[in-house]
Amino acid sequence: MRRLIVSLAVPYLQASYFANGLAFMTMSTGNQMKMSSSTPKHTLYDLPVSNNGARCRIMLYKKGIKSEEVAIVSPAERGGLKSDEYLALNPQGKMPLLTVDGGMNIPESDTICRYLMSTYSDRGPSFLPDDPKSNLIARIHDMYITTIQGCLYKASPPFGIYGTRQDAFKELQKQLQIIDDLISDDKDGNYLCGSEVSLADATLFPTMIFVKEMFPKFGPCATELPTKLSKWYDDVKANDADFSKVHEEVNGGIKQWTTNGRWDKIWLAGVRDEEPATIFDKIISGEIPATIVKDEPKLLAFKDINPAAPAHVLVIPKNRNGLSSLRKSTPEHSEILGQLMVAAGEIARDTSLGFGDGARIVVNDGEDGGQEVPHLHVHVLGGRQMYWPPG
Ligand code: AMP
Repeated sequence: MRRLIVSLAVPYLQASYFANGLAFMTMSTGNQMKMSSSTPKHTLYDLPVSNNGARCRIMLYKKGIKSEEVAIVSPAERGGLKSDEYLALNPQGKMPLLTVDGGMNIPESDTICRYLMSTYSDRGPSFLPDDPKSNLIARIHDMYITTIQGCLYKASPPFGIYGTRQDAFKELQKQLQIIDDLISDDKDGNYLCGSEVSLADATLFPTMIFVKEMFPKFGPCATELPTKLSKWYDDVKANDADFSKVHEEVNGGIKQWTTNGRWDKIWLAGVRDEEPATIFDKIISGEIPATIVKDEPKLLAFKDINPAAPAHVLVIPKNRNGLSSLRKSTPEHSEILGQLMVAAGEIARDTSLGFGDGARIVVNDGEDGGQEVPHLHVHVLGGRQMYWPPG
């Protein structure tokens, strides 16, 4: 077999056609790739920074399956995830994808892993210990963590079903604790189910690389990995060369994000609410009294102390979260802005508060707009005829 070693400056997005056959390569953390002119039976389309695809690579590495059997290729080789060529292979436009020469194309990391486990059942560890916890942990990961993991790195919401990063982080930490509680206190061995590596280890480990790297960037809204998970992560990284290799691959990609300044513009990572608290925080905490007319998990409405109309209510977010004025709003704030408007509408039709047939709903923004309190608030004014233009 002809082999060619090519040095590349950029280590992660490599693959190429070679002579008359498909050249394939192994992705590595160094800057070399190996290419061969023969066609392997399988091709795994994946990138090292992908945590979901990384579980397939752990399996390949641990089973000793080389690139001659399963080539690992960047989707860029097919024009990228959204190209017609790639979409013809995987209409979901996602990675990882395993193509099988003469067989069906298999997308989705868990499906690929299960194919690898059965196809290569005679090679290396089975990844199927006699312990249902392995499947359960992998399932919890895919159902409840993968679906919201975007909160760790995406620029803006939604993060799965969550409209804010704080809510998504809260859920992520809850799921990590549930997994932590599943780990036996007296387990014997480095892996989640003891001494035998399993699908759970392969599934969870790459995502925990993200978590370990990214939790500290999000300061108080994300804390540490739970104790047993943290120990497992450190043990497996230190003692298993294949996990260590995948750690290098995934982390290499994440480090490039840092170099590219990805975090600098992300809310709660590089950008935070640095402005001082206002009188409204004291109303929220109950430190000073107010006539509360609506109290919801994320917002509060109370009567204005100096009413400019017979009915005058202010609606505010409980967590200012950077919204000292409306001009500071970003897609990160879409959920609360929608909730404030819905609440303002509900208040405006509440005749018991003195509102009649209509209201003026106003946000004073900044100095020119006449804003005095730097904590976003929606004025709901009514109980008399309003005129235009306002003064
Ligand atoms: P703005 O001028 O748009 O910043 O509006 C601030 C509003 O907050 C004014 O209408 C004030 O009367 C009102 N306000 C200030 N302090 C309080 C308070 N302790 N309780 C209720 N409303 C207040």
